[in-house]
Amino acid sequence: MMKKVLKFGGTSVGTIERIQHVAKIIKRDYDAGNKIIVVVSAMAGQTNDLIQLSKSIANDFSKRELDVLLSTGEQITCALLAGALKKININAQSWLNWQIPILTEGDHTNSRIVNMNVSKINNFINEGVAVVPGFQGISKNGEITTIGRGGSDASAVAFAKLFNADSCEIYTDVDGVFSSDPNKIPVAKKIDRISYDEMLELSSLGAKVIQSSAVQTAMMYNIPLQVRSTFTDRKGTTIFDHENIDYSKSVTGVAYSKNDAKITLIGVEDKPGIAANIFEPLNKAQINVDMVIQNISSDQKTTDITFTIKRDDLKMTKDILNNNQKIKYKNITHNDKVAKVSIVGAGMVSTPGVTYKMFKALADDKINILAISTSEIKLSVIIDEENTLNAVKKLHTIFELD
Ligand code: ASP
Ligand code: MG
Repeated sequence: MMKKVLKFGGTSVGTIERIQHVAKIIKRDYDAGNKIIVVVSAMAGQTNDLIQLSKSIANDFSKRELDVLLSTGEQITCALLAGALKKININAQSWLNWQIPILTEGDHTNSRIVNMNVSKINNFINEGVAVVPGFQGISKNGEITTIGRGGSDASAVAFAKLFNADSCEIYTDVDGVFSSDPNKIPVAKKIDRISYDEMLELSSLGAKVIQSSAVQTAMMYNIPLQVRSTFTDRKGTTIFDHENIDYSKSVTGVAYSKNDAKITLIGVEDKPGIAANIFEPLNKAQINVDMVIQNISSDQKTTDITFTIKRDDLKMTKDILNNNQKIKYKNITHNDKVAKVSIVGAGMVSTPGVTYKMFKALADDKINILAISTSEIKLSVIIDEENTLNAVKKLHTIFELD
């Protein structure tokens, strides 16, 4: 007998038929004698629809009221799924954020789960299935909160941690984690086992299958995650501690994202403290700078500095740079038609030549590299957006992932 947290994403509970199907999956586990807590997302598209509704009132709709509004999405699926379980003769009960309660800290729409009262649910799962809402909680002042888009994964991990569950299974609409985006790269393969570090890199570099903050928490508390499909019986991907993984391949996956923009300051004074003066106000405004390149100045007096940021922060970044009295430069240019393509693999640490192999492959295809960043287990490049899929395909092939 195990204590399990099962999480079902939006597409898994997107229609009544699917909710009934999910009830059958839960029944299988429950009949096998397990204690089950089910975490649900809202029906697919529902959260977006609710956001649209709020925008039809006001573009700057109150965040407090937005949390009240958005939390209803998961309230609906909780009740429907508990009802569907009862219909197939399983004792089940839904609980809302304030009934448990799921305690959060932080701002509206951007809170995080810090604690829960586990007693009522722990009692209940001895006799039935508990169905709880993902993506939300309640602050210590009793305000309804949400924890950021895609937050149900983080909710599932928080439940697994606070209830001391034996496993946390993330049911979704794909078979698991793939070596690249299976919708765009048909030769991409499902990965059976992957380490937390690699998954963390892949998900923050563009792989959408699981939220990176959920992986981070799982890693911190060593909670193994299972990502698997609601719609097939195939074995999914296990995300866990890396000690037990075979790193015969240097690269585990190729990710890409189109969320970045590149800014270049041309003709910046080349003297100590200049970089600090550029980045200090960006830091204050919580703008995350990813890659930075400074080239050697030819005249010893000025230099060019290029850096990348989230595309959504482009306007704010340019405004801050334009108003920064502490720096002088000749010109500022930006490019938001760029993509970040990354190779990730814990095996990279012990394989020489991975960097060369990546750069050579891109050069052979005449793909220009605009910026580079590396860590022990990843190598990312910024390239022109139009070359994205070519680059991903090429890297997937040369690193023997096809
Ligand atoms: N329903 C929320 C969203 O769409 C949370 C989730 O699905 O994980 O962002
Ligand atoms: Mg979701």
